[in-house]
Amino acid sequence: MLGLMQSVPLSIPMIFHRAEQISGMKRITTAEAGAVRHTTVAEWAVRVRRLAAALDALDVPARARVATFAWNTDRHLELYFAVPCADRVLHPLNIRMSAEQLRHVIEEAQDDVIVVELSLLERIWPLAERLDRIRHWVVIDDGSGADRPDDDRIIDYEELLSSVEPFSGRFSVEDETSAASICHTSGTTGNPKGVVYSHRSTVLHSLGGMAAGLVGISERDTVMPIVPMFHANGWGLPYTALFAGADLVLPGSDLSPRSLLRLVEDHRVSVMAAVPAIWSGMLPQLEEADLSSLRIVLGGGSATPPPLAAEWERRVGVPIMHTWGMTELNPTGAIGGLRSYHDGVSQAEREKVLARQGQPALFVELRVADVDSGLLLPHDDVSTGELQAHGPTVAAAYLGDVGHELLTDDGWLRTGDIASIDEFGYVTIHDRIKDLIKSGGEWIPSIDLENAICALPSVAEAAVVARPDPKWLERPVAFVVMQRGESGSAQSILDELRNRVPKWWLPDEIRFIDALPRNTTGKVAKDVLRTLATSPNRG
Ligand code: ADP
Repeated sequence: MLGLMQSVPLSIPMIFHRAEQISGMKRITTAEAGAVRHTTVAEWAVRVRRLAAALDALDVPARARVATFAWNTDRHLELYFAVPCADRVLHPLNIRMSAEQLRHVIEEAQDDVIVVELSLLERIWPLAERLDRIRHWVVIDDGSGADRPDDDRIIDYEELLSSVEPFSGRFSVEDETSAASICHTSGTTGNPKGVVYSHRSTVLHSLGGMAAGLVGISERDTVMPIVPMFHANGWGLPYTALFAGADLVLPGSDLSPRSLLRLVEDHRVSVMAAVPAIWSGMLPQLEEADLSSLRIVLGGGSATPPPLAAEWERRVGVPIMHTWGMTELNPTGAIGGLRSYHDGVSQAEREKVLARQGQPALFVELRVADVDSGLLLPHDDVSTGELQAHGPTVAAAYLGDVGHELLTDDGWLRTGDIASIDEFGYVTIHDRIKDLIKSGGEWIPSIDLENAICALPSVAEAAVVARPDPKWLERPVAFVVMQRGESGSAQSILDELRNRVPKWWLPDEIRFIDALPRNTTGKVAKDVLRTLATSPNRG
C-alpha cells in the first residue's frame, strides 16, 4: 500500500519560496570594498528572479553548468538560488586553485557560463583562451576598480539583470534527484574530485543544520559563514540560513580577524563557521570586540586542537564546536558538543566529549571498519578503523569516471579517515589514512600526536608528517609554531611529550616554523611538509 500524501519534490525552490514568502524582512549583510551593504530577503528575492530570467535570456540550456568565482557576498547568494531554481547547475570554483586545477575542474563540469567578481577576474581570465566551451563571462562589479578586458564574451552582471524582467512564476524542479550543484574537493590528497549534490540532498542537509540540539539554526539566528561558499557549498549554511529564516552576514574578501570580529559585534552574529586556522588567527584580538551575541562557533575542515577550543570558551564563553565533514557528504557528517546526558559531568569528562568530532548529522549513519579486513568494528571508543558513511546526503559516485573506490561492496562511502566511535555514536577522527605514520608495523595517528603537542602551553600550532626511515619504514617529524614571545627547544618539547604519548610516538625531529603552510581551503598542506621533512633543516 502506498501512502496517500502529495508527491512534491524536495528542491531548492522550496527553500526559496519559503524565504520569499515569510522572511522578506530578514537581512542579508555583505562586507565589500571596505563598506557594508544591507539588503532584505525580499529585495534579494527579486534579484534572484531577475537572474533566473537572465539565464534564459542568455540561452543557457536547462541543466547546463554555471560556474561562480566569488567571495561570500549577496551576489554569490543570488547565484546560489537563481541557478538551481532555474534548473541549471551551480558550480562554485575555488578561487585559490592553481590555473591547472581550475582548467581541470571547469572542463570536467563542462561549465557553460562563468560569473566572476571583477577583482578576481585577473586570476582566471588568462585561462579564457583555453576554455572554449565557456560562452559567457559575466562580471560582477565589486567596487574594486580593477581592469576589465575589452572582450565580446564579457557581460556586466548589473546590466544583465536590468535587461530582463524578473521571472514571475513559481520555480519548479520536477525531479528532486536532479543535480543542484557541483562541488570539487580541496584536493588535499590528489586532484580535486567532483561531487554532485542533488536538490533532495541539499534540502535534507539544510534540515539537518536546523535540527534542535545539534547546530539548530533558527529564525532567531544571525549566521556568518566565513567558510568560503566555494568550499563544499559553504558547508550548506547559506541554504540552511534562508530555510530557517535567519539573518545572514557575508564577510566578502576581508577575512582579517579585525574585520570578522567587527562584523560579529556590529551585526550580533550568533552562529559562525570556519576552519580552525581562522579561529587561531583571531585569538590575539578576541578582547577587542563584544562577542556576547555568539551562540555557536563551528570549526571543521580539519581537526580543531582541543586547547584552541578551550581558549575560546575561556575568553568568549563559547567553545569551538567540532564539525566533521567532507565534500562527499553535502558536506556535514558529524556535529560535536554536549548533550543533556552530559549535564553535571566532571570537567575532565566534559573536555573529553568536546574533543570528539561529534555525533552523526541528521541524515548520516557512520561506522568503522578494519582497514585491512574490512570487518566492522564495535563502537567501543577504542577500536580504530576506516570511517564509513551512509545516507541520502552521502555521495554515491564522483563526477566523471575518476577511478576511485568510493563505496564498499554494501554501498557505504569510504571516507579515507581513521576514526573510533563510542557507545553514544560520538566519532573521534585520528587521522587520514594517507597521513598515518607507519612506524615499525604500528600506526601513529598524526592528529592525536598533534593534539598532544598543541596541549603544551608554549605551542601555538603543530603538524606531524611521516619521513621515510630505513629501519622503521616511517618516523614522525613535527613542525611546531611557538606562541608569540615563546622560544622553545626541541629537547624541552620532547621532554614534555614523554609523559603524554607512547615513547615510540616521540618525533624523530622537531622543526620550528613561523607558520604552517596551508592549502586552498585552509588545511595544513602536509604534502609540502613531507617534502620539507626530507630536506636538511636550515632553521
Ligand atoms: P579534501 O578531501 O580535498 O581535503 P574536503 O574539504 O572535502 O576536501 O575534506 C574532507 C576531509 O577533511 C575529511 O575526510 C577529514 O579528513 C578532514 N576533516 C574535515 N573536518 C574535520 C574535523 N572536524 N576533524 C578532523 N578532520 C576533518
